[in-house]
Amino acid sequence: MLSVVIPSYNEEDNIANTAAVLSKTLSDASIDYELIFVDDGSVDKTYEKILEESGKDAHVKGVSFSRNFGKEASIFAGLEASTGDCVAVLDCDLQHPADVLPKMYKLWEEGFEVVEGIKSSRGKESIFHRLCAGIFYSIMSKLIKMDMKSTSDYKLLDRKVVNVLLTLPEKKTFFRALSFWVGFKTAKVEYDVMERQYGKTKWSFMSLMRYAINNATSFSTLPLQMITFLGVVSILLSIGLGIQTLVKYFNGTAAEGFPTVILLILLVGGFIMISLGIIGNYLARIYEEVKGRPRYIIRTHTENILGNYK
Ligand code: UDP
Ligand code: MG
Repeated sequence: MLSVVIPSYNEEDNIANTAAVLSKTLSDASIDYELIFVDDGSVDKTYEKILEESGKDAHVKGVSFSRNFGKEASIFAGLEASTGDCVAVLDCDLQHPADVLPKMYKLWEEGFEVVEGIKSSRGKESIFHRLCAGIFYSIMSKLIKMDMKSTSDYKLLDRKVVNVLLTLPEKKTFFRALSFWVGFKTAKVEYDVMERQYGKTKWSFMSLMRYAINNATSFSTLPLQMITFLGVVSILLSIGLGIQTLVKYFNGTAAEGFPTVILLILLVGGFIMISLGIIGNYLARIYEEVKGRPRYIIRTHTENILGNYK
């Protein structure tokens, strides 16, 4: 059986349509399935809609959080609730086209344990957004030493892989990269990003920035090593400047000291503050992990949910 995990935050207009499209696609491909909608603390009628669908069709299951915990938490809650032999994750707004699912399923049947959805086009996006995403993914790819360009959360994972992901102790996860990190036999499927069906995106520029920084620091210690690099750079700079000053001194032209001093103070001050910021970010991550709070809190769920809930 295939479990489909669908993180949903304020998606009241999408639930019915998404359930219908997925049901049709999967039953047409004669795949046994369950649809797990995870209501991520929506403030609209998302959970009511899920209940409605669930009442009509036993394939539809739902979990609802006590508040908004973010997409990563919704994905993991869905994985935990899933019972299928393989699990797919896809966006509720159907920007991840449903008709790719049977193709992914087929690859899984052929023995692939991780099937990655790769964006062949990024859909409608502003140039600015595209640029930021480009920078973020090239940095992340370097940090993780894996090619993350064009990856997305659209994936199909074997039960084995899901179980491994669920045993990872970290609370702040980056699903997109973790599925690379765990390894396993991987296949890629290209898809075109669709237009959002209803409603609008939940990501602002600031939330994307926060997402990028958190993921970079939760996945790699390279930023910390960059601090050492910055230190080396300032030492080299000061040696260069020292030599220049000496040369000028022996030539009899006294160095104009004041602007140089101010510049140096600003430069070194900048380096120190960036470094403190980076260290602070790691400290914050450690603090959050050490607290050991759960990834999410379940408020309620539909009767037919099994997985790790009962
Ligand atoms: N989502 C979620 N929790 C959040 C934000 C988003 O579960 O806090 C879900 C959302 O319902 C959707 C998916 O994550 O199914 C992708 O969100 P969205 O479409 O807003 O992002 P975009 O496609 O614009 O990147
Ligand atoms: Mg979307």
